[in-house]
Amino acid sequence: MTFTVKALQKTGPDQPFDVAEIERRDPRADDIVIDIKAAGVCHSDIHTITNEWGRAHFPLTVGHEIAGVVSEVGADVTRWKVGDRVGVGCLVNSCGDCEQCREDNEQFCLNGATGTYNSEDVDGTITQGGYSEKIVVNERFAVRIPEKLEFLEAAPLLCAGITTYNPITHWDVKEGDKVAVVGLGGLGHMGVQIAAAKGADVTVLSRTRAKEADALALGANRLAATAEDPDFFANHRGEFDFILNTVSAAFELKDYLGLLKPRGAMVLVGLPPEGLPLPAGAVIGNSKVLAGSNIGGIAATQETLDFCAEHGLAAKIEVISAEQIDEAYERVVTGDVHFRFVIDTATITDAPVGPAAAASAA
Ligand code: NAP
Ligand code: ZN
Repeated sequence: MTFTVKALQKTGPDQPFDVAEIERRDPRADDIVIDIKAAGVCHSDIHTITNEWGRAHFPLTVGHEIAGVVSEVGADVTRWKVGDRVGVGCLVNSCGDCEQCREDNEQFCLNGATGTYNSEDVDGTITQGGYSEKIVVNERFAVRIPEKLEFLEAAPLLCAGITTYNPITHWDVKEGDKVAVVGLGGLGHMGVQIAAAKGADVTVLSRTRAKEADALALGANRLAATAEDPDFFANHRGEFDFILNTVSAAFELKDYLGLLKPRGAMVLVGLPPEGLPLPAGAVIGNSKVLAGSNIGGIAATQETLDFCAEHGLAAKIEVISAEQIDEAYERVVTGDVHFRFVIDTATITDAPVGPAAAASAA
């Protein structure tokens, strides 16, 4: 059995968003139903639904930065009760049994984790994401939102937060390390705050100086504008121990690798649709490390939220309503985001079914 909720949906990659009614399954014994209060807009939502990464299943609702309240629990649920404040990130299920799941790396599930959207669900349907009134997930895939965090500012921690916290922790970024965060968008602005909270000396590498004051306010020690100085990469060779690269479009790997100290590491979290050519000499010279990092497991996601609450960190957001979603997407693509758009999902409830952009006129 299923029930119907309102959601923001696209019927094709070039279509604007509609407010539509979509189906959710009735909770199974180990599921919880969440009343969604806030849904962040991640650039991965855009890559997916514009089909830049390919493989999008339409009609599709995206959104994997979800914060809300438990409104119903299945018969066997032990972790949650109605009224709990919870978040859901990029995953809604995994086998729970394999070596990776047992080590809290559900994102690497050997039997294939279920993504929050555009993934095949347990019942064979395609999962639909968080730009919606409610979602139904396995109870293991929710995390607790600390009281200190509001829903709207907490939602982006479920993807942008964990995706930056995880490599910063794994690579042991610590006091005094020279860290560069490339790209000051949703992921970048969390990376800056988390690396600064770990005591690192943080440089933001942005294309222009436009975000300089914001970068300093987030805890960066400085911002350097890579596109404003033709000699930038030559002038800054060998400066950093660690680079967290969040850029969402194609860039030159060798330029950024050149900024690392000997044996320094650059971790890619940005996932441009294009391939990035890598001359072997760019990693062999001075024994550089080039790595990637994919979101994080559920325990690490809980740790991210707890770390942020403890250190007074949260996402810096611009709250939007349902009818602003198409415009917000355009602004993210042009880099005009400070630093995450978050949908107040009550506005989806209020909007009539039909084109989302028309909702304000209703
Ligand atoms: P975002 O808010 O759009 O931020 C990306 C930033 O990259 C922009 O703000 C911009 O920073 C910079 N940038 C954009 N286009 C650029 C270009 N042509 N050249 C150089 N810099 C450019 O996106 P996001 O939500 O943070 O996501 C960033 C990337 O991470 C996306 O590709 C997303 O799919 C990926 N992602 C990966 C994971 C994972 O698990 N690895 C998880 C979530 C997201 P400046 O304006 O400061 O230059
Ligand atoms: Zn994301």
